[in-house]
Amino acid sequence: MNWALIGASTIASQHMIGAFRAQAGGEVTWVISGSESRGGAYAKEHAIANASVDLADALTDASVDAVYISSTNEKHFSQAMAAIEAGKHVFCEKPLAMSVSDARAMVVAAEKAGVVFATNHHLRCSGSHNAVRDIITSGGIGSVLSARIFHAAHLPENLQGWRIDSKESGGGVVLDITVHDADVIRFLLGEDPVSVVAQTTSSGMGQGVEDNAMSVWQMPSGVLVSTHESFTHPYAGSGLEIHGSEGSIFADSVMTQMPVGKISLLTAAGRKDIPFDGYNLYAFGVARFCEAVAGTGQPAATGWDGVKSLAIAQAVQDAAASGERVTVAYGAS
Ligand code: NDP
Repeated sequence: MNWALIGASTIASQHMIGAFRAQAGGEVTWVISGSESRGGAYAKEHAIANASVDLADALTDASVDAVYISSTNEKHFSQAMAAIEAGKHVFCEKPLAMSVSDARAMVVAAEKAGVVFATNHHLRCSGSHNAVRDIITSGGIGSVLSARIFHAAHLPENLQGWRIDSKESGGGVVLDITVHDADVIRFLLGEDPVSVVAQTTSSGMGQGVEDNAMSVWQMPSGVLVSTHESFTHPYAGSGLEIHGSEGSIFADSVMTQMPVGKISLLTAAGRKDIPFDGYNLYAFGVARFCEAVAGTGQPAATGWDGVKSLAIAQAVQDAAASGERVTVAYGAS
């Protein structure tokens, strides 16, 4: 699979270029940047043959099979639509777009064009989240009663750019982190939240965007989910808890990009540690994408998964802004 990067981004640099090249035959031959000098330096640093400020240069290269979009969020829609029109498969970063209707349009356009479209929700790819899901689906905690995600991190200084001061680029903790938590809950519980209540704050780091969010979601089954996301918590750690009628799962430090953490299961029989596989989350997602292109599998997170996680994040934003309980608007299916 020959990839074009759309966006000279940190995530591509730190995780995705390696994940693309880790696949058999995986190549990265283009980077598209808004800046000629940044794109050129990025290409040189990562041994990418071609850099351009013109997306059409990569899209008209017949040797390019797929694009990976990791530009700032407001650019995803137009770049994805152009790539789909050019017949390229699309692996797009979350949030897919700035609105649910744009995200839906991207996914529908890909379906019509017959190209694979996937969302880079890495957490559902991890060994830890799959181990938690296995316990739930095998009845290991009985009926699920409630869930809690704590994902209050401290945004590293090198990422304190558009995320903390640009609403126009899709900054703020809800589109950055709540959107991931939405995907995790859907993946683990196998149902989609119906409604949410939420509060957000800007506690100093965020300039015109929220840097802390807490919300409570109601699932169709009646299960309640609480989530906390932040850019400002250096020592809080991360994790999730799923509580059921026959047991509780405690997964510490698992809301992360690395295959780390610790899972324990507490039941009437006592507490036991749950082992899980420690493979690379991003390489797993890319492998699933390649299988989908080859017609032998499905993406780990599809375009529709990205639409739904965005719809939930937007409901959290709307609920925080209005002070009202908000029904999640997924749009027609
Ligand atoms: P970056 O800020 O690193 O990159 C985003 C864009 O900012 C780049 O495309 C680049 O524009 C521009 N940029 C990068 N560095 C500089 C710089 N030094 N000076 C000026 N502009 C710069 O963002 P991230 O990599 O953190 O995020 C990119 C996307 O990926 C977002 O949609 C985000 O939500 C998502 N993401 C997903 C993660 C996941 O695990 N799934 C994790 C992290 C991010 P240009 O291309 O024009 O050069």
